[in-house]
Amino acid sequence: DGQIASLRSKLDICVNGEDVPDPIMCFSSSGLPEKLVLNLESAGYVMPTPVQMQVIPASICNRSLLVSADTGSGKTASFLVPIIAHCSQLRSQKCTDKRGPLAIILAPTRELCLQVEEQAKVLGKGLPFKTALVVGGDPLAQQIYRIENGIELIVGTPGRLIDLLMKHNVDLSNVNVFVLDEVDCLLERGFRDQAMQIFQALSHPQVMMFSATVNSEVEKLSNSLAKNVIHISCGNPNK
Ligand code: ADP
Ligand code: MG
Repeated sequence: DGQIASLRSKLDICVNGEDVPDPIMCFSSSGLPEKLVLNLESAGYVMPTPVQMQVIPASICNRSLLVSADTGSGKTASFLVPIIAHCSQLRSQKCTDKRGPLAIILAPTRELCLQVEEQAKVLGKGLPFKTALVVGGDPLAQQIYRIENGIELIVGTPGRLIDLLMKHNVDLSNVNVFVLDEVDCLLERGFRDQAMQIFQALSHPQVMMFSATVNSEVEKLSNSLAKNVIHISCGNPNK
């Protein structure tokens, strides 16, 4: 309605898609686990950033998203918060017995994966939420061992993750969230086919794609990964 539209325009949030959930104004009172809200506060996240205001509720509604927002606008927490909420909810309900991955995040570089995993650990502290980092430079056997011991989230580069999946059988049947961070960069680095290959091993996950810019290649990938995608762009007057 008009009020929501003017709120979005004030926050510089543009949305495109069917039945887009309303933005949230705070982390508490959004149905997130109490411990997660406390972790956000401890990390100094008092208020959600605009991209978080719109992405978190849309993600909680299991919608697939293509999000563009400037560097530094808080995209990482916008996908980590709903993932942590989702995982800890499933685990505390004991919906699944074995702790196999429930979500996969792909990012183009080792460094970026390290940063994302670090933030995931900070925000997921004290919750039934464990992470595995799957990147080059660390022994593959160690990464496999960690996954075998029970985790909720895999953060990795596409090449290394495929390498691991070829050498070791990981049950991906409970992965229902698939995130591509810095999609534009993933495509520039030639990771398209590998990302598709990982996607095809999953069973109809929610797909969330994040990019500083959205070009036709990004749109094409988005169309081949998900239907009924919500497009969200924040603080980007060119969109
Ligand atoms: P992006 O991925 O959009 O480039 P990041 O997710 O890396 O941006 O976030 C940029 C910085 O802002 C990080 O240092 C992060 O800890 C911080 N940050 C993210 N969300 C919030 C928030 N709601 N409140 C305060 N700081 C935040
Ligand atoms: Mg980022």
